[in-house]
Formats: sequence, C-alpha cells, structure tokens
Amino acid sequence: SRPLSNKVALVTGGSRGIGAAIVRRLSHDGAVVAFTYAASEDKANVLAAEIKAAGGVVLPIKADSADIAAVQQAVALTAETYGGIDILVNNAGILKRGTIDEFSLSDFDQMVAVNQRAVFVAIQAVLSHMHEGGRIITIGSVTGDRIGFPGASVYGMTKAAVASLTRGLARDLGPRGITVNTIQPGPIETDMNSDENSRAMVRPLMALGRMGKDSEIASLAAYLASPESSFVTGSALTIDGGYLA
Ligand code: NDP
Repeated sequence: SRPLSNKVALVTGGSRGIGAAIVRRLSHDGAVVAFTYAASEDKANVLAAEIKAAGGVVLPIKADSADIAAVQQAVALTAETYGGIDILVNNAGILKRGTIDEFSLSDFDQMVAVNQRAVFVAIQAVLSHMHEGGRIITIGSVTGDRIGFPGASVYGMTKAAVASLTRGLARDLGPRGITVNTIQPGPIETDMNSDENSRAMVRPLMALGRMGKDSEIASLAAYLASPESSFVTGSALTIDGGYLA
C-alpha cells in the first residue's frame, strides 16, 4: 500500500505551480485530493482529468482564498464528500512587489487576505473534520526569514506571519495529535517567478546553481503529509537550493 492510502487531502491553490505539483504527488502517494483554484479553471480541469486518468480520486473546487465563506465551503465540501480531512496544505499565495512609497493599501489588503487570513480561516474550518494524525502544512517562503532585495516587505511579512501562526498552532494542536509545519521554499520556477529580471537576480545566490522545481517542494510536502514525519511540528523547513546558505 502507498504512504497516503485512505487519506484525504485538501490543497489550496492547486491549479498551477507548486500547488499542482503537490496535488499530483499526494495523489501519486495514494491520497484522495481536493484542491481549490480561483482563476485557472481550465488548468484545474486538465489537472483533474490527468489524475483521474492515472486512477486517482480528485475534486477541483472553485474558491477564492480572499473570500472567507468560499474557503469555509471548500473545507466543508471536501469533508462531506470524503468523510473527513487528514491533510490540509495551505499553498495559495500571491506576490505583489513594490517598495513602501508605491505600495497601495488595496494590494496590502489583498496580500494579507490571501497569504495570511485564508490560512487561518482554512485551518479553523478544517479542525472539526481532522483527527489524531492530522497534518497541517503551509507554504511560507524564505522571505519569512530574510529579504534579499527591495520591494518584498509585504510579501515577507505575510510569510513570517504564517510561520509564527504555525509555531503557535503546534502548541494548540499538539495535544490533539495534529502536526503543523511551514515549508519555506527559496526561488522555484513557476509563473510567480517567471520574469527574467528576478531570475537573474537570484541565480548567483543559488548554491546549486539553479532554481528549484515545483516537484522538489512537493517531495517535502509529501514527507510532512506522511506518517514518517510524526515528530516534526512547529517547524519552518527551508528548502532553497542553498539560497540562504
Ligand atoms: P503560482 O503563481 O505559480 O500559482 C499560484 C497558485 O495559487 C495557483 O494555483 C493559483 O490559482 C492559486 N491562487 C492564487 N491566488 C488565489 C486565490 N485568491 N484563491 C485561490 N487560489 C489562488 O505560484 P507558486 O506555485 O510559485 O506559489 C505557490 C506558493 O508557494 C505561494 O504561497 C507562494 O507564495 C509560495 N512560494 C513560491 C516561491 C516561488 O519561488 N515560486 C518561493 C517561496 C514560496 P488560480 O490561477 O486559479 O488563481
């Protein structure tokens, strides 16, 4: 049997990039996987078809993370459809760059709503459906620890916030046998990081001489989702090709 047989996972922002890689990997490891998306309906449907063709069980759900009720409904739908949730992966995130003088309050609010508030909302909603052995994983960022360049202060703030929330929740939920961890990726090749300017800036800092692949983040998520990680909680795990080294 596979490591996640009989497990139910919900991944937010699973239509593209790191989230899609996590959906693929958790399904490959045997989990039933529901995932949310906001704008990329076609990509969500193509991914779901790919997983079904491979024999997996998958449920794409349109749910904007900025919308509190939509996040709560996605959790409820997943739990009702599959009889509970064992693994929550908070992956949906946005990056708006800008230095303080040019950063608008509406962008600030949007970043906080998607990267930070939605994480709290999803975790709060999932807990009544999650039992001992449950896994809560949030995709933070190395920018939660260190900002290498101007223009990422608000993004870094949201990522530091989820790492701190994770540490606190490890204390709240440890007695219930639920682990809570943050994955802090360095530069990964996705749409979020696709402009050549930012790639050229980070490349010299990569100890391995390259940016990461979405599947490499999915590997760590699969470990944290599995029973193998039973003693890991409250951690912020850096996975960055040596970017911070
Ligand atoms: P992408 O921009 O490639 O993909 C983002 C995903 O999140 C898409 O599936 C998108 O779905 C979804 N999403 C975005 N906004 C919302 C929303 N409001 N509601 C629901 N889903 C949403 O990003 P990455 O894959 O690169 O990033 C994934 C996570 O990893 C993010 O939290 C990001 O901050 C983090 N990260 C990324 C790094 C990188 O170098 N790429 C480094 C460190 C952390 P849709 O298109 O349907 O809206």
